[in-house]
Amino acid sequence: MRAVPEEVAQRPSRRVLLLGGTSEARELAALLVEAGVDVMSSLAGRVAEPRLPVGPVRIGGFGGVPGLLRALEEYDAVVDATHPFALGMSANALVACRQAATPLLRLERPGWEPDPAWRHVDDHEQAATAAAGLGERPFLTVGRQELARFIPVLRDHAALARVVDRPASDLPPTWTLLTSRGPYSLDGELALMREHRVDVLVTKDSGGTYTWPKMQAAAQVGIPVVVVRRPPAPTDVEVVNDVPAACRWVLSSV
Ligand code: NAP
Repeated sequence: MRAVPEEVAQRPSRRVLLLGGTSEARELAALLVEAGVDVMSSLAGRVAEPRLPVGPVRIGGFGGVPGLLRALEEYDAVVDATHPFALGMSANALVACRQAATPLLRLERPGWEPDPAWRHVDDHEQAATAAAGLGERPFLTVGRQELARFIPVLRDHAALARVVDRPASDLPPTWTLLTSRGPYSLDGELALMREHRVDVLVTKDSGGTYTWPKMQAAAQVGIPVVVVRRPPAPTDVEVVNDVPAACRWVLSSV
């Protein structure tokens, strides 16, 4: 069954810039390509071998708001489907789209339903302190870019740090680095936690299903979880929480 109606698929297309780096962005790109929308996916280029979306892709920063403004001359609408913690790109998109009068939609997956057993903190430094108070063998699943913020407090802990690509700088000798990429399975997460005897899990409130099994595994193993809250979402942009809603917005905007 087609995901979009035939008459929509026949509509002459205008150009859409899709700021990506998430599974939702890849799903949206696939739907828009199928609908005949002229969509360009944009990736930051952080990951050495990114999962590429369907359709045309550009990789690398735009050069701040001025660069994005120049790029916007080519597009009729923008969907910001970057990660909930990718603050810089979202802020730039807001400013540039307002200046260029380009319609902007934010596609942001919901955060996880809070569990009373989790310890929520506001930033990664607080997460490091909380983890240090809760265990000796923290499992850090916060992404490569944030790891350095854990070193001052957790330098002497037997941390297990899981990232997609190796960080550029050295980690403490007491840490174990694991490179891998989701989605993960519950069985795999349980085995990993038991093998490394992790006693506290640290994560961002990324939401979604890709990394959810670690939360289930932590509950089953009975270890505490430290969750970094999301930064405040921008208030002056239209936001949708799922891919079909974003697809409808694009199809009604272009
Ligand atoms: P960020 O702090 O919001 O962005 C920093 C700079 O990277 C931006 O100002 C922009 O450079 C460039 N950039 C970011 N996303 C881009 C995109 N989709 N296309 C082109 N340039 C982009 O972002 P970040 O936290 O480093 O994340 C980078 C990318 O990884 C995002 O696309 C995000 O969706 C994905 N990601 C992030 C996380 C996370 O936890 N932060 C997790 C998973 C995936 P210029 O100013 O030069 O344009």
